[in-house]
Amino acid sequence: MAGGPGAYVFGAEEKKELMDVIEAGGLFRYGTPGVDGFQAKVVTFEKEMAERLGHKHVVATSSGTGSLLCCLAALGIGEGDEVIVPGYTFIASISTIILMNAIPVLAEIDESLTIDPTKLEALITPRTKAIMPVHMLGNPCDMDAIMAIAKKHGLAVIEDCCQAVGASYKGRRLGTIGDMGAYSLNVFKTITTGDGGFVGCSDELLYERAFGFHDQGHKPCRMGVEVGNRSLVGMNLRMNELSGAVALAQCRKLDNILELLRVKKARLKNQLQGLPGVGFRTINDPGECATLLTLLFDTPERAARFCEKAGTAPIAKSGWHVYNNMEQILDKKMWSENHPFVKSGAHYEKHMLPQTDDILLRAVNISVGVVDKGLGSGTGINIHSTDAEIDAVAENIRNILNS
Ligand SMILES: *Cc1c(COP(=O)(O)O)cnc(C)c1O
Repeated sequence: MAGGPGAYVFGAEEKKELMDVIEAGGLFRYGTPGVDGFQAKVVTFEKEMAERLGHKHVVATSSGTGSLLCCLAALGIGEGDEVIVPGYTFIASISTIILMNAIPVLAEIDESLTIDPTKLEALITPRTKAIMPVHMLGNPCDMDAIMAIAKKHGLAVIEDCCQAVGASYKGRRLGTIGDMGAYSLNVFKTITTGDGGFVGCSDELLYERAFGFHDQGHKPCRMGVEVGNRSLVGMNLRMNELSGAVALAQCRKLDNILELLRVKKARLKNQLQGLPGVGFRTINDPGECATLLTLLFDTPERAARFCEKAGTAPIAKSGWHVYNNMEQILDKKMWSENHPFVKSGAHYEKHMLPQTDDILLRAVNISVGVVDKGLGSGTGINIHSTDAEIDAVAENIRNILNS
């Protein structure tokens, strides 16, 4: 099975929450308790997730992509603005910036496979409005360094937590350190509703604007909306009660999933220490999700040789999370010639980020909880793997590395 750990533990709890909705019949996120079968699953999910992560507010959405749009809109990012984003991420981090008429400025990653804070300041211009650190593969970005730069230059910080729901940095959950956090509940992420997501923040105005953008400009929970009083134009990025029911059950499993993954990852990683020519990516905080184990080889050649024998590929060649494989920015033909992105003259080309290219050619993902060929983690272990199975995978990797 491909998917994230939440998909692997989908079961009786999700079924119970879902059956509440199916039997009572209230499918829409808004309603009055006791009327028309309303079960308040989305609202309850928002409240419980906010409490779990330490946000004042959470807005459930239909995807991580939608959540990023809400954050950008809430912060008022638009035409003429630049947003700094790493060149190793899912396309949605970059395309949402363009869809809001702003310009993505690509940054290098370091050996944590997240944005390199030492390369950030050189990218800041008078047009820079925000930094979007992406907590890739469940690993927290170096948030102390990033927040210091953001503060110094008066920039907003949108944390893309789509691959790191529940992870923490220095005791704080990801998404609560910057101005806003965007999360995904897609099937390949830590917990899932098939597709879904949410936004987290603590500022009242940002909450009101994010909520409004996700629901046609309405005030939170459609309270106090009067015709003529809407303050922004929104979309429909709402979550429905069926997704909300599953999200609620998964939210309650989140910390157990992370506990279990950390134990399994440690068992696998411990058996791969001290091997010739290979180490691991830098983990910025032990509060990471532990959804993946990333091997980092000394040279691209060593990584390629390992991959050939193991039947996998280095991250650079594994799929679409690398800017070199994003025709959406490399080939502007996808956009109208009058689009602000095209008119800005922003230019992207393959291999414009040599440090990122070098690291990703040397990096190989082994699954721990996220089994996803598109991330280069089609093989490894999963959340149900037994100790014996983990030991066998470790032995196989060791044998390949020693041969
Ligand atoms: C998955 C992902 C997204 C988008 O989430 P969807 O729920 O698929 O829309 C955004 N950013 C990153 C880093 C992701 O991995």
